[in-house]
Amino acid sequence: MTFEYQRVPEFAGGRRLHLNENTRGCSPAVLAAIRGLDATRLAFYPAYASAIRRCADHLGVDRDAIVLTNGLDEGIMAACLVAARDRRIEPESIVIEPAFDMYAACTDAAGGTVVTVAPEADFVFPTAAVLAAITPVTRLVFLTNPNNPTGRIIESETIAHIAHAAPQATIFLDEAYGDFARTSFLPVRHAHPNVLIGRTFAKAHGLAALRVGVVIGAPDRLEALRRAITPYSLNVCAAVALEAALDDPGHVAAYVAEVEQSRRLLYAACDRWRVDYWESAANFVLIRLGDRTAEVVSALARRGIFVRDRSNEPGCAGCVRITAGVVDDTRACIQAMEETLCDAR
Ligand SMILES: *Cc1c(COP(=O)(O)O)cnc(C)c1O
Repeated sequence: MTFEYQRVPEFAGGRRLHLNENTRGCSPAVLAAIRGLDATRLAFYPAYASAIRRCADHLGVDRDAIVLTNGLDEGIMAACLVAARDRRIEPESIVIEPAFDMYAACTDAAGGTVVTVAPEADFVFPTAAVLAAITPVTRLVFLTNPNNPTGRIIESETIAHIAHAAPQATIFLDEAYGDFARTSFLPVRHAHPNVLIGRTFAKAHGLAALRVGVVIGAPDRLEALRRAITPYSLNVCAAVALEAALDDPGHVAAYVAEVEQSRRLLYAACDRWRVDYWESAANFVLIRLGDRTAEVVSALARRGIFVRDRSNEPGCAGCVRITAGVVDDTRACIQAMEETLCDAR
């Protein structure tokens, strides 16, 4: 079986509620920082010391405990390359479904074997099944907290339990949406040296197009990852943008608050329509519209509102994932959904 990332159409304009981006955009300080670059800064290979220091301080970790990456996707790929290097075995990556496509796609591209764990009812985290899937050749376990596409949280004790049960593996804890969740494994990571934590500045910080991520972990475990990443993988715009974004925490805080308001609006609408949804700790909500999903997704697209049909993901039959960002977009989406849902009744 092969796995690949399901590319979405490149919509121009409209309300983009399908990729969990920051729909408000990045901080104005980021634009100023990029405009401030001169011809030689673009001509010279980028220096990273300042961005690394700034990012490590932001996370409250030592500088040698982080690796900056060209988007978190690169961190995931690097972890897969490292995991697949042991040629004496057929290294396995455990992926708990429904999951972000890149875990399986990168494992596959690196030559590893994907072992999937099926979801439980209501997306309760399948701890027993994950523990049962661990074998002597497990080299990676991907955990996503909060999960994409469900927005559900994994308890820290569960993460610790899995890390303890798989000392032969790296636990890649993807906290891409950690800024929205106000919870992180960072404070307890020292007790679990086989856990690498992935963060991205694509979502809450609004730098998706610039491509900036970071992997945090024990320095010796990060050494192998560093060797799997090319020396100038972040371009200079991304490096200066990261610093500028971190210097404007108010921008992120305001957006996180707006996301919470949008989530509540979506929950209230679902309650009115009597459709199922899952309370989310991230900047999106997974909603089960059942057999009306495809119809609603295309009706919204005709009005320039793009949402993501997740029906083909395990456990997500009839589900749509809607980004909760700018409140005006959320209201427009709810209005359009209401008209579509009521129309056909
Ligand atoms: C968006 C996303 C990423 C990728 O982040 P980039 O920095 O844009 O590469 C990683 N993991 C999850 C769960 C995501 O949703």
